[in-house]
Amino acid sequence: MQLARANGKILIHDNGSFYEALGITGDIETFGVGAALDQLSSITKGALVETPTALEAPLPRPEQLFAVGLNYRNHAHEMDLPLPTTPMVFTKFPSCIGDPNTDVSIPGDTTDWEAELVIVVGTTGRNIPVQSAMHHVAGYMVGQDVSERTVQMSSTPAQFSLGKSYRNFAPMGPWLTTADEIADPNNLQIECALNGQMMQDESTSDMAFSVPEIVAYISTICELRRGDLIFTGSPAGVGQGQNPKRFLVDGDVLVTSISGLGTITNTFVEEN
Ligand code: ZN
Repeated sequence: MQLARANGKILIHDNGSFYEALGITGDIETFGVGAALDQLSSITKGALVETPTALEAPLPRPEQLFAVGLNYRNHAHEMDLPLPTTPMVFTKFPSCIGDPNTDVSIPGDTTDWEAELVIVVGTTGRNIPVQSAMHHVAGYMVGQDVSERTVQMSSTPAQFSLGKSYRNFAPMGPWLTTADEIADPNNLQIECALNGQMMQDESTSDMAFSVPEIVAYISTICELRRGDLIFTGSPAGVGQGQNPKRFLVDGDVLVTSISGLGTITNTFVEEN
């Protein structure tokens, strides 16, 4: 099932059409699809509705928004950084969550893209074993871990979180695809095109730490809570890795897709 949010409501997306989602009793207004994660099996499809003009972030208010750095072998290489031996986890602050197709203001000269698979935690847990980690995953989304590189790298040692938390620096969606529809999250094609030119085109099998390994690892330190989101790292092909480096400028259009999960489109605009 694919659950989208528009006009404050949850809708079922099915093959290009949208339907009412029936059987949800949680606080949809505040938590969006996050309010329905304990009721997924009882949601049923209602009437066909008009295609919304704008989709909203499916889960606008997670308690925690984690991200994993340098988790694709080719990306670590292009960033000229060693592949971490344990997952390199940082936070994007939840106030940076954006609607799937939102415009993004460019705060600096070195704003960059990172196409990423986003995990949605479905069941709260601590010290989750790798073998049962997938039971804690409700589903997946397409996300962009937009990054202002100068701010990201400005301290020694670098502190990634603020440089990755400007307004709308985590557009995601276009809907939550429930985990039962994805046979293997580490066998998906992830792509990002800039103004029609393919910049990132990789399989999620290139991840150094797989989806269950990431969930298990984070849960050894933080309690993972229902509705938490985890960005799982970017494949190679970011602007920082180009020669010469290519950062986002006014009018750039970024189209990010993952097989089976959909597409988000973001236009970047210069701040006045
Ligand atoms: Zn990232």
